Amino acid sequence: MIVVMKPSCAPAAVESVVQRILALGLTPHLSQGEFRTIIGAIGGATPEAMDQLDQLPGVDHVLRIAAPYKLASREFHEADTVIDVRGLRIGGPHVHVIAGPCTIESREMLFDVGRAVRAAGATILRGGAFKPRTSPYAFSGLGEDGLKLLQEAGEILGMATITEVMDPRDVELVTHHADILQIGARNMQNFNLLLEVGKARKPVFLKRGFSSTTTELLMSAEYVLSQGNHQVMMCERGVRGFAEDVRFTLDLSSVPLLQEKSHLPVFVDPSHATGKRDLVPPLALAAIAAGASGVMIEVHAHPERALCDGPQAVLPQRFDELMRQIREVAAVLGKDVPRGPA
Ligand code: PEP
Ligand code: MN
Repeated sequence: MIVVMKPSCAPAAVESVVQRILALGLTPHLSQGEFRTIIGAIGGATPEAMDQLDQLPGVDHVLRIAAPYKLASREFHEADTVIDVRGLRIGGPHVHVIAGPCTIESREMLFDVGRAVRAAGATILRGGAFKPRTSPYAFSGLGEDGLKLLQEAGEILGMATITEVMDPRDVELVTHHADILQIGARNMQNFNLLLEVGKARKPVFLKRGFSSTTTELLMSAEYVLSQGNHQVMMCERGVRGFAEDVRFTLDLSSVPLLQEKSHLPVFVDPSHATGKRDLVPPLALAAIAAGASGVMIEVHAHPERALCDGPQAVLPQRFDELMRQIREVAAVLGKDVPRGPA
């Protein structure tokens, strides 16, 4: 349930509601809106508990949230969540582009791609160090060495960084080196991993499992939120369909659907959705037009030599053109595409 406080209530009233929620054996979560404070009480709402809370000073009303996800819902937090990553404002009226190679192959290639995407206007550098591969014989990333390279590139290029963490035991290590923790599609329902990144104090980028519903995605976000980490972004990256010529089927309807139900920023990854470089730019533009808070694009200067996902890597020149088009589409929606620090 949620406890909606009166607009002018005193901080002491909020505190006494929090104390009563704890006394009821529930967990309080605070949502400080521009006009009012909402306090989530998670752990089972009985009519008696609702009644008790309703009578406390400063309380406007108490509401049961019907959806199975609570902290992720718009009822709990009405305004769009805007997440601060190294001074970048992610969500709300801002559009950010995450770009970089599928996997970090070497220092030279990471910096080459990083410089190119940074010059084009991307603000967040991606690069896998721990790669989930279908084959156990495929290149699975540089591990900690890759994380160090990503951190160095982020610092030198003035970009925020994102990389995937696959194992709960690596969360601390990845948190140390990267600005955003990515949970891959294959791990969207790895609940122990979700709980672990929920305890981390870094934003989490949660990709939709390719056979998961949007409600399941929201429930996975709820796992992270439940641990006190309120900095969660969700990402549509395509679901299993029967279209033969694409890797997955990009479900763009999930963008407005998720935004209606949740305050969390929604991104789209057209690279893994399609698996084909020519399809990436048009779908990236469609994602921005559908209202996404940004897109994640794989870029490589020599895709024919890429160790992973070469066929879907966009060339730097095309990426530059795409960034210009993204700015135009975003402008139509009244959104800005901020550049990183000069
Ligand atoms: C990735 O972004 O590196 C990746 C593996 O994507 P996904 O988990 O969506 O397949
Ligand atoms: Mn990839």
